[in-house]
Amino acid sequence: MAEPVRCSRCGEGFREARDLALHRGRVHGNDLDEGEQASFEVALEEEAAWLDGFRRHVRAGLATLPVFLVYAIVAVSGYIYRASEMFIVLPLPGILGFAALTYYMAYRHQGALA
Ligand SMILES: [Zn+2]
Repeated sequence: MAEPVRCSRCGEGFREARDLALHRGRVHGNDLDEGEQASFEVALEEEAAWLDGFRRHVRAGLATLPVFLVYAIVAVSGYIYRASEMFIVLPLPGILGFAALTYYMAYRHQGALA
């Protein structure tokens, strides 16, 4: 485990230099030198990019839920009506493919959904 980096102003420890740069900008933003300000801006951009990727994965995961819901309805009704197992097994590759396509399209979607 790497040695934590400490804030020179308040002594708070952080695991990564990027976390320290974010802390300095957010807590001690009034008295940053040029290098600290630059590293804060870089860290902010990296954090925004990470959050954007995380939101896109969450949105893509949520977008696949209706696909699995429809398949669950098909599978449960097949069980209730004692249909052949093939009624449940045969659609599975198509369902998985459709879910993967839905995930991919929702992940790549650029605009806001709301
Ligand atoms: Zn501090």
